[in-house]
Formats: sequence, structure tokens, C-alpha cells
Amino acid sequence: MAKDRGEKILRALRKTFTLPKWALSSRDPFQTLIVTIISQKTADRNTAEAFENLSKQFQITPEALANAEMNKIEESLKVAGLYRNKAKTIKQVSKIIMQKFHGDLTPILSMPFEEARKTLIQLPGVGPKTADVVLLFCAEKPTIPVDTHVNRISKRLGLAPKNGDYEAIRKSLQTLYNPKDYLAAHILMILLGRRYCKARDPLCKRCPINMFCPSRNIEDKDG
Ligand code: SF4
Repeated sequence: MAKDRGEKILRALRKTFTLPKWALSSRDPFQTLIVTIISQKTADRNTAEAFENLSKQFQITPEALANAEMNKIEESLKVAGLYRNKAKTIKQVSKIIMQKFHGDLTPILSMPFEEARKTLIQLPGVGPKTADVVLLFCAEKPTIPVDTHVNRISKRLGLAPKNGDYEAIRKSLQTLYNPKDYLAAHILMILLGRRYCKARDPLCKRCPINMFCPSRNIEDKDG
């Protein structure tokens, strides 16, 4: 039943949104790690700007960032929130990747999923979401990262428990979908969250999946 509803929601989202090219092209795991660290508690636009600033100053490699001057990393990240902490984390994580993994994340990504996830989570600044993003996007591992949009939307849609924590949400979603659809489910929920299912004042009346949503408010102001 829930699976059937989950499938219908995914089908409707696929009809509404096109998966962006960036989501389907292969990604460098270290760059993905850095951009995901920058994105923590930061709006997408500011994340992109901070990453671009950083890329103008340095090559985004473990070696370059391990040796980078801290104040230059901080300067590049200023537009992102918590930029001092993030600069420190980026330098630390780069150093550890150099020392422990010879500057290469590929062997970690080749490990079985749980082992790879555990190894990534031991790195500074890498929590479950960051690890899942790297594993899904860079190694096609079977996981659904739960960012702020996925968290909010899956609960509003009743696809995850209302008080569920990160793991509870991830597991609920993963039981609904086939692993080949995890990437699409993650991205399409983000697109829905940006356009319709906003944190405040969701646009339920115009939402393409409102017929499946127990939280819909069709009296919304912008409908
Ligand atoms: S109907 Fe409203 S609450 Fe439900 S998914 Fe759509 S925008 Fe979000």
C-alpha cells in the first residue's frame, strides 16, 4: 500500500521535473565531499558561490587544500554560514585524506556499502548525510541521503515517521523504492521542496502530488 503510493508519487514527480544533468554525470568524490561540507546549514546559492570562490583560489584536491593557508580558505567561504568552522574542517579532512588514504577516496568507495559509510563518517565534518551524498552520487551505492527537503517532504507525505530521525527516514524511504530509483527519489524531492513544498507556506494547491498528500492545505495563499 505505502509502496504503491510511493511509486505513484515518484511517477508524478518524474512527470513534473526533469532530472538535472549535474545529477546524472559522474562526480569527483573529493569535490563532492567538500561541496557537501560547505552546504551544511547553508542555502544552495551561497554554497555554490563559496565553492566557486574556493575553486578560484585552489585546486579542489586533498593535497592543495591540506597545504592551503587557513585565512585564504576562510576568505573563500565567507559567503557560507559557519565559514571559520568549515574552513578548519576542510583543511583537517584534506590532511587526513592525504595521510591515511594517500589523497584518494576511490578505495573507500570500492568498499562494501556499510564499511565505506563507516569509514567516511570517521572523517572530520562528515556525518551520515555527507557520507550518503558521496556514496550515492560518486559510487552509486544504495542509499538515500536525507537533507532538509527530503526530511520535511517525506514526513508531510507520510512516507516516513513524523518523529523519525535520520536513519528512520532513510530506511523508510529505502523500503519504498527500488535502489535504482534512490537517486531520482532524492533529487526529485529536493526539486519539489524548492518549488512547491517549501518549509514555510507550501504551495499545496499547485503541488503536482497534492492528491497523494495527507498534509495538503489546498487553501494555501499562493494557490
Ligand atoms: S500537498 Fe503541500 S504539503 Fe503535500 S507535498 Fe505538496 S506542497 Fe508539500
